[in-house]
Amino acid sequence: MTSTLNIAPLEEWLAVSEKPLVIAGPCSAETEKQVMETAFGVAAIPQVKIFRAGIWKPRTRPGDFEGVGTPGLKWLQKAREQTGLLLTVEVANPMHVREAIDHGIDLLWIGARTVVNPFSVQEIAEAMAGHDIPVMVKNPLNPDLKSWLGAIERLNSMGLNKIIAVHRGFSFFNRSPYRNAPMWEIPLELKRLYPNLPILVDPSHICGNRELIPGTIQKALDLEMCGLMVETHINPGDALTDKNQQVTPAQLQDILSKLIVKRDSGNMQFSLKLEELQSEIDKLDEELLDILERRKKVEEEIKSMK
Ligand code: PEP
Ligand code: MN
Repeated sequence: MTSTLNIAPLEEWLAVSEKPLVIAGPCSAETEKQVMETAFGVAAIPQVKIFRAGIWKPRTRPGDFEGVGTPGLKWLQKAREQTGLLLTVEVANPMHVREAIDHGIDLLWIGARTVVNPFSVQEIAEAMAGHDIPVMVKNPLNPDLKSWLGAIERLNSMGLNKIIAVHRGFSFFNRSPYRNAPMWEIPLELKRLYPNLPILVDPSHICGNRELIPGTIQKALDLEMCGLMVETHINPGDALTDKNQQVTPAQLQDILSKLIVKRDSGNMQFSLKLEELQSEIDKLDEELLDILERRKKVEEEIKSMK
């Protein structure tokens, strides 16, 4: 599956004085006040370098809040002016790319629902060509390393080389405490194939709830991922999107202060094998529980027939 990727080292284009690199900000930009208050809140945390906010929101069902659109980009510009944080937004089509670039957004990201579609990724890559803009590529919704890699290759072949992969977990039909199963072996395989490609974790979309976030970030750091993107909202309870998985700036600061950042061990083969085996055990456990539950139901049905 290997191809040659030309990836510019992160340190050459982004001043990251300490690891991990932290990106924080709301799932969606909702109002100017919410954007500014959240930006000031996260800017007070020294590790946070980049402010994220969804401007155009991909929603599973129509009628849900679909983002404030282009006017929100002005709020982000104001947040950058007043806090010094760099800005990143999600782009899902060439119009988003043009608007974001015209408003001087520093980094773009392509979301999980877009990465699954090679036509969309190709159009986006063509719209970005010639702009030398950094781009983060989330993994696709489904556990498919090839389409994640394919999106990175499409961007790379358009001359974009400031690329970061973002691990946000995968849709998984079995019962799981996570909104999107982490399946750590997939990003680890990407890291094994392309050791120079920086990989961040997005614990918010993996977990789907605040409680699992600290452990998920620690796991990502233990697996030598180089940073995190955490959805942070000044008042998560009022968030218009993803309210259960957003943390306040104060909670983010607390989570970051408790992380243990180790130096690179260089022992990726070992971590990869261990993760594969652990993941296999987890899947077998789920199947066992499912089978036992099904057996119980059949037993009850038999009883009720007697
Ligand atoms: C997001 O970051 O708000 C988002 C929509 O993420 P994903 O594409 O990972 O679902
Ligand atoms: Mn979100």
